[in-house]
Amino acid sequence: MIKLVTPITLFGLAMSLFVQSANAAEIYSPVPEKISGVINSEAPSDAIVLFDGSNLDAWQSAGSEEDAAWIIEDDFVTVNNGTGSIKTRQAFADFQLHIEWSPTATIMGQGQSRGNSGIFLNSIFEVQVLDSWENPTYVNGQAGSVYLQYAPLVNVSKPPGEWQSYDIFFQAPVYEAAGELESPAYVTVIQNGVLVLNNVEILGATYTEEPEYSTRCTPYGQMREQDCSGRMPITLQDHGQVVSFRNIWLREL
Ligand code: MG
Repeated sequence: MIKLVTPITLFGLAMSLFVQSANAAEIYSPVPEKISGVINSEAPSDAIVLFDGSNLDAWQSAGSEEDAAWIIEDDFVTVNNGTGSIKTRQAFADFQLHIEWSPTATIMGQGQSRGNSGIFLNSIFEVQVLDSWENPTYVNGQAGSVYLQYAPLVNVSKPPGEWQSYDIFFQAPVYEAAGELESPAYVTVIQNGVLVLNNVEILGATYTEEPEYSTRCTPYGQMREQDCSGRMPITLQDHGQVVSFRNIWLREL
């Protein structure tokens, strides 16, 4: 029997090829326009405070059961290079997260080696933290990107040493009982008061060769595969560089 190839099936084939070919790669243009913004630090009354400058009780080492070993000074905490990434003790689904960050004023590298840290939503989807002030790199790896997936709409980065803010609105992925993906994750990011990512669909874990969704995953900075289909902690990245954080709070949605 001759099977007819209709335009609809051709369209479906083209779409499936498109979906299958979606993968992460470094992109260098167009370069996001450079603008300026402002930050607002005040937490709403219903926020869960994850760090107010006093202690890291809400955090632990990502790779072990140890306490978080990053360094608190004044009202901020700084990556303690070599001690590894840290994660929240509490796990979350959908949330609004406020976090302020500052790469060291001392410029010690360039590109991805300058003020690199990151905020891993669900401990697997990285919103990049980088000193992107006059520091070219692939645009989907600069500050305000979903790492290797989406470049920010604009570059609103401040000079190194100045405080910057992210307000992140995250919709967690949903899986069916059988483990199939029902709905991917979405994220909106406001950097220094300016929209840089507008409800983008996250393609999967950002640190694997090809982004993927799976109910089983190995969260960033960990060695052990685990169930990733439910609530997950937030992880902050130790990328071996000096980056500080302050005023971290979250509202569950
Ligand atoms: Mg990073």
